[in-house]
Amino acid sequence: MHDLIVLGGGPAGLTATMYAVQKRLDALLITRDLGGKTNYMLQLPFVERHMVINGDEILNRFSREIEYLDFVRVMENAEKITAIDGGYEITTTGGGTHQTRALIVATGAKGQLLNVPGEHEFMMRGLCYSALSYAQLFIDRDVVVIGDGDLALRGVAELARNARNVKLVAALPNDLDTPIGRRLRTLPQIEFLEGFQVVEVKGDTYARSVVVKGTDGERELFADAIFVERDLIPRTQLVAHLVTLDKKGHIKINSRNETNSPGVYAAGDVTDTFSEQVLVSIGEGAKAALSAYEYLLKTEPAKQMA
Ligand SMILES: Cc1cc2nc3c(=O)[nH]c(=O)nc-3n(C[C@H](O)[C@H](O)[C@H](O)COP(=O)(O)OP(=O)(O)OC[C@H]3O[C@@H](n4cnc5c(N)ncnc54)[C@H](O)[C@@H]3O)c2cc1C
Repeated sequence: MHDLIVLGGGPAGLTATMYAVQKRLDALLITRDLGGKTNYMLQLPFVERHMVINGDEILNRFSREIEYLDFVRVMENAEKITAIDGGYEITTTGGGTHQTRALIVATGAKGQLLNVPGEHEFMMRGLCYSALSYAQLFIDRDVVVIGDGDLALRGVAELARNARNVKLVAALPNDLDTPIGRRLRTLPQIEFLEGFQVVEVKGDTYARSVVVKGTDGERELFADAIFVERDLIPRTQLVAHLVTLDKKGHIKINSRNETNSPGVYAAGDVTDTFSEQVLVSIGEGAKAALSAYEYLLKTEPAKQMA
């Protein structure tokens, strides 16, 4: 039985694994990839790598170390988790089973796609999925934000601090009536387009416009970048039977990254922690590993301690 299994190899899971390895725990990382969402980088003619904080130096280092330590990782999809005597058992796509005393869930959250023509063509080339990460690059530029929830409002608020014009395209206006939403309506550089559906993303090398459809027909909105800011869907199906989730499906954790199940910790975008950012996930992964380490010390079988 392993001391610790980390599920997910994004910033949270990579950091948790490296902490665990450095503490000489018998740790195993089960993941589909190394890097998670940091493998997606926005490309635009005016964007250079040093202009965004994406923690890539530290994450590349962690990925390289985990690639080298091949006994530490299983590059597969985790399919099932079962509580067993003294811990948990994880079954992977390849049919393997792995038992552990403690578990860190760092499976991230899935962005919701538009599913319209042009989306795949321009994904990350002018069409982006994280306004919070790139807002500072849009001084005096025109942007479109697509979404109708809290994430879209937060994205608009960030972009409006820099951009010349921000258009919010919201299919359903219901969730926009919040303190942030009401405040944003008073700002002259923001336009709310409510009840509009996205029909197509158009461009050349980069996305240049988005076609939207409302009750009066279609409109083409030109912009320097288009942000899809639909609420993320936390990947929690695997653990929904084990831990308490909030109403949006995030794993509820306390300040030590503990869930309500003994020995189960969670970190990063999959949790109800504030803000989906690489640096936040790195810190949360480190905290989860330290908490799991303490748990293991307290529950270590007597013969291992001798
Ligand atoms: C397009 C885009 C650009 C961004 N740019 C920035 C930026 O510049 N700066 C910034 O701070 N933030 C940025 N972000 C946000 C940032 O990427 C996320 O907050 C961060 O990656 C979350 O880390 P995480 O480890 O919680 O999850 P993720 O990065 O989502 O990683 C989850 C991991 O879990 C694995 N996984 C999931 N389910 C399973 C399973 N069942 N079995 C095995 N493995 C599984 C996945 O393969 C993946 O490795 C961006 C986000 C997007 C979408």
